[in-house]
Amino acid sequence: MIIAEQKPLVKIKEMLAGQQKVLVLGCGTCVTVCFAGGSKEVGILASSLRMAAKLEGQPKIVDEMTVQRQCEWEYIDPLLEKLDDYDAVLSLGCGVGVQALAERFPDKPILPGLNTSFMGLPTEQGVWEERCQACGDCILDLTGGICPIARCAKQLLNGPCGGSQNGRCEIDPAVPCAWHLIWERAEKLGLRDRLLAVQPPKTWTTSRDGGPRRIIRDDLRLPEEYRE
Ligand code: SF4
Ligand code: SF4
Repeated sequence: MIIAEQKPLVKIKEMLAGQQKVLVLGCGTCVTVCFAGGSKEVGILASSLRMAAKLEGQPKIVDEMTVQRQCEWEYIDPLLEKLDDYDAVLSLGCGVGVQALAERFPDKPILPGLNTSFMGLPTEQGVWEERCQACGDCILDLTGGICPIARCAKQLLNGPCGGSQNGRCEIDPAVPCAWHLIWERAEKLGLRDRLLAVQPPKTWTTSRDGGPRRIIRDDLRLPEEYRE
């Protein structure tokens, strides 16, 4: 899932300076699960902003709302009339949610209350770790289900590098060496021989380096006359 964290309150206050009536809008999916932007966080942040405005003697109105998903028209279109009342929306959705709102409501300032961090996994309570960088050409079949693109600091396709020490990455002893994990897993699966083959350079044209990506499934698209 997409992992995000809230921007510091000072930064959020700066973004909202001069806006009289603000809607703090949460998202009920990924950012709820990682405790960054669900209805609970919306409530806490809205209260903090109200308190801060009161202490600073500013006449600010801060309302709160959470939609199921900010990244789908079907959930944000019903906001159309409600947003008329507000000078700005502080989105507690990921970057996709913020951009979906900005696209649907071009006349309304939509401000990001979160920093969208990565696609990851909650490995223990209160710990989220990166697992995928959406490279667009998944090679987990070659690496035993452990991603060297997201988890190796050098994104090596042939590893480990010389910096691996006792199973830890040279960037930080708290970080497991992805290639050490891959090697151990290959041993368990009896696939070590496969790892000995040298992997050629990866094509990055499917990744972000190739520009914004798009997936078109003609079998799922509406006939042309029904498209917006
Ligand atoms: S290889 Fe690419 S798509 Fe597969 S998990 Fe890693 S970054 Fe994600
Ligand atoms: S120590 Fe392991 S994870 Fe770190 S850069 Fe080298 S191969 Fe990659």
